[in-house]
Amino acid sequence: MSQLQRITINPQQLQASQLLLTSQQQHYLWRVLRLQDGDQFIAMDGMGKWWLAQLQGEQAQILEKLKTNQELPLSITLMMALPKGNGFDEIVRYSTELGVTSIVPILSGRTLLNPSSQKLERWQRIASEAAEQSERTIVPTILEPVTFNTAIQNCTSNHRYICEARGNYPHLHHIINNITDQIYEIMIAIGPEGGWTDQELEIAVKSGFIPISLGRRILRAVTAPIVAISLIAAKFES
Ligand code: SAH
Repeated sequence: MSQLQRITINPQQLQASQLLLTSQQQHYLWRVLRLQDGDQFIAMDGMGKWWLAQLQGEQAQILEKLKTNQELPLSITLMMALPKGNGFDEIVRYSTELGVTSIVPILSGRTLLNPSSQKLERWQRIASEAAEQSERTIVPTILEPVTFNTAIQNCTSNHRYICEARGNYPHLHHIINNITDQIYEIMIAIGPEGGWTDQELEIAVKSGFIPISLGRRILRAVTAPIVAISLIAAKFES
């Protein structure tokens, strides 16, 4: 199956066993990928479902629903303070490749950037492309940027951690190795280049976040999520 091209579709495009293709998708399949009538490809709804489809003009015939197991057995939410420049693009791309489920962009005290609304669309597109490239069955959800306080208050998971580059906090590796019960959800908060303010750290701890370390070296804001997600994936991936 891996050699087949994949496109992301909206489930509303499915009508019985027909997939109605948008003009953009037709262009992509016909002109960019150079598929022809009768060629097969994979349609993904970005929410875990994959179908084997066969191109037929402006439509495609759904041949079968596919079984996939590319996803991690738990959901990972990355609460990520917006770094400067285009750093968030890289964070979205790498986190998606590594298996993140959702990303919450945070406007924190030391965030320098106030993103335009086009940014969200850009990040969603990057997540979609990275999910396709990594053959994931879901496209991570990228939420609207929120303030630090809103993000912290909306947090419901029993397993929530805030990464802090300085201080003598337990290592994430150590913490997750001590988890013995089945867990379904984990939330990780990571600060911007300037780090969290003392007050933010305090608010997070009061809201049930456990401060953790990712090792003794100070990582860049772009590197920290890669380390955190890799450690979680390594522990829980069966
Ligand atoms: N300028 C800050 C570091 C910011 S690094 C300082 O000098 O203290 C950006 C973010 O990455 C941090 O807020 C933290 O969430 C995360 N981070 C980087 N290195 C880390 C480490 N070794 N342990 C835990 N979190 C880390």
